[in-house]
Amino acid sequence: MNLTDHYGRSIKYLRLSVTDLCNLRCIYCMPENGVSKRSHSEILSIEELTEIARASYALGIRKIRLTGGEPLVRRGILTLCRNIRSIADDIELSLTTNGILLNEMAQPLKEAGVDRLNISLDSFNAATYKTITRVGDLSNALSGIKAAQNAGFDNIKINIVLLDGFNSGEIYDIIRFTKDHAVQLRFIELMPLGEAKALYQERFQTIAEIEEYLRQNARMTVDGVARVYRLPAHKGSVGLISPMSRDFCPTCDKIRVTCDGRLKPCLHSDEEIDLRDLHGEDLKAAIIRGAHHKPFRHHLPSGGTDTNRDMNEIGG
Ligand code: SAM
Ligand code: SF4
Repeated sequence: MNLTDHYGRSIKYLRLSVTDLCNLRCIYCMPENGVSKRSHSEILSIEELTEIARASYALGIRKIRLTGGEPLVRRGILTLCRNIRSIADDIELSLTTNGILLNEMAQPLKEAGVDRLNISLDSFNAATYKTITRVGDLSNALSGIKAAQNAGFDNIKINIVLLDGFNSGEIYDIIRFTKDHAVQLRFIELMPLGEAKALYQERFQTIAEIEEYLRQNARMTVDGVARVYRLPAHKGSVGLISPMSRDFCPTCDKIRVTCDGRLKPCLHSDEEIDLRDLHGEDLKAAIIRGAHHKPFRHHLPSGGTDTNRDMNEIGG
């Protein structure tokens, strides 16, 4: 089965948000005091998440990314990974994490069948990292990356949201990290939704300047939504993701499900399709309907986002 949207785009990629809770409080994502814990009945159970993954696979989804909030604080996350792995070998199962809990979780995640990790780390400077995450300790995130490598994860991607005046001064040091480390660093433009709406006015910076530097010094390839540059003799590479200055909507192949069970055809649309309490053919029909409702593109630069949700509820 091939899941397609109204414009003929093939939908292959599901991002499943497993919690809206987090052990960090990044200034562009989470309210300073965190969010109140929802009751069990309000968030999808591990069984429901598995059922959505299974139905999506039957419809043609082949990439599943677990996200949040912080997916590693969700109880049952390893069971969920094992369940999804057991659906089929040809699912690419990945997870986006802030890396804080990878010291103890990297090996179990590998054994549970996770193929790839994206780790979010916006600064290699301890003070800046603390300012951006409000409570995070850089050394935990760095040792989490090491633990992931030791557990056998290769092709690790490190997500860096570009913030003017915070991490903008260390861009070239960060790029230099790829000389000796076989990771893909990915600079991402800040998007004005939820907590980031106000911050966007003072902290948004385009990736144009980084791209100009890389264009002059490296060759470009495309990896999903990222334009990827590898500098000569560097073990790692640098990816650029520019939802604001150069959107990638026309080739978007994603749908998202929030931790409270709403399918979002587009990150920035307010349209949501409730998947709670749907099973079997009804669940598949709702996913097909969701894919079909995908808008052709968002209109962030001109009109802003239409979603009222914070990023910790959607998962990026
Ligand atoms: N807690 C995990 C983490 O931080 O990797 C997963 C969830 S987090 C919401 C997923 C990604 O969204 C992270 O890489 C984060 O930096 C990014 N993100 C959050 N808010 C954003 C915003 N307003 N603009 C751009 N990226 C954002
Ligand atoms: Fe937590 Fe990730 Fe949001 Fe930071 S970006 S507050 S780590 S969910």
